[in-house]
Amino acid sequence: MALLAIGMCIALSSCKKAGISEKAKKEQAYSKDIFAMDTYMSLTAYGEHGEEAVKAAEEEIHHLDNIWSIVSKDGEVYNINKKGTGEISKDTKTVLEYAKRLNEETEGAFDVTIYPLMDLWGFTTQKYHVPTKEELRQAMARVGQEYMTIEDDTLTLGEQQQMDLGGIAKGYTSSRIMEIFKEHGVTSGMVSLGGNVQVLGTKVNGDKWNVGIRNPKGNDGELIGAVSVADRTVITSGGYERYFEEDGKTYHHIIDPFTGYPAENGLISVTIISKDGTLADGLSTALFVMGTKQATEYWKEHHEEFEAVFVTDESKVYVTEGLKDDFQSDYDIEIVRVN
Ligand code: ADP
Ligand code: MG
Repeated sequence: MALLAIGMCIALSSCKKAGISEKAKKEQAYSKDIFAMDTYMSLTAYGEHGEEAVKAAEEEIHHLDNIWSIVSKDGEVYNINKKGTGEISKDTKTVLEYAKRLNEETEGAFDVTIYPLMDLWGFTTQKYHVPTKEELRQAMARVGQEYMTIEDDTLTLGEQQQMDLGGIAKGYTSSRIMEIFKEHGVTSGMVSLGGNVQVLGTKVNGDKWNVGIRNPKGNDGELIGAVSVADRTVITSGGYERYFEEDGKTYHHIIDPFTGYPAENGLISVTIISKDGTLADGLSTALFVMGTKQATEYWKEHHEEFEAVFVTDESKVYVTEGLKDDFQSDYDIEIVRVN
């Protein structure tokens, strides 16, 4: 056995005393699966600092989960939802600044005060229920992010308002994980937070990462295509991720604030590819609500910030032009151009 190890060391000429080559050190992966933010997550970091980086990231995930969960009794969101006002941390403030921008730019399609509607439909308790017109009217009157104010570090909600950061929290979290990886000297890694992927650098062999995009109408694991990326996030919102059925109809968890109903504007999945995880997550939810036409227009106006893949209810796949060399698919795709 010892002889064999020595033999291998000679073969790998860069081998050091410890018996592990520099190359092998760089390529060694540390992976961990965890459950947090109501979803399965998987984290991988390469190199000799991989393990400590993943462990630090895991701590941060649990911290953010706790402050943003709608049920954690010492969390910021839980307490502000209860009292209507409260102090917020830097992380929450940053997320809410994104939310404000998105709410304004999408003319209200993205709205973190959506909580009363999420609750009415039963998505917060799993006690699902199709609401009556009157119930919808009452809940919709409590939604509107423009009534939420932040002064210094104090957030105040509008009257009877409650918030839900579920449409943006995971994107911020994956961006934070990339920062933590970098702080630990990691240059290659990836995270998947319930299918929301963010990658750091390239793979250790220098190739881009391949990230699959699920076919919203297919079985679990069936793909509509894949994108090759480095230093990017790939975040998908789809009606198939969380839903219930009643009387043969399906009701999913992305709510159109203008109707109070699950959004049904022609899109069945929206994938955003961007450097910025927080933006990408917020946008995946927002553009899903906006629907095919408005989402395409929005991309044209903001094409420097992100790329997108839209799948419509007629099974059309639209891919924005910046992705055309990095998107592989067996389906017919249509390229969306700025002009
Ligand atoms: P997932 O969390 O499944 O990856 P999304 O990023 O699209 O998918 O987030 C959906 C979540 O966003 C919902 O569970 C809810 O918490 C929140 N949400 C639903 N509708 C809206 C909306 N119109 N604006 C902002 N957030 C929303
Ligand atoms: Mg989202």
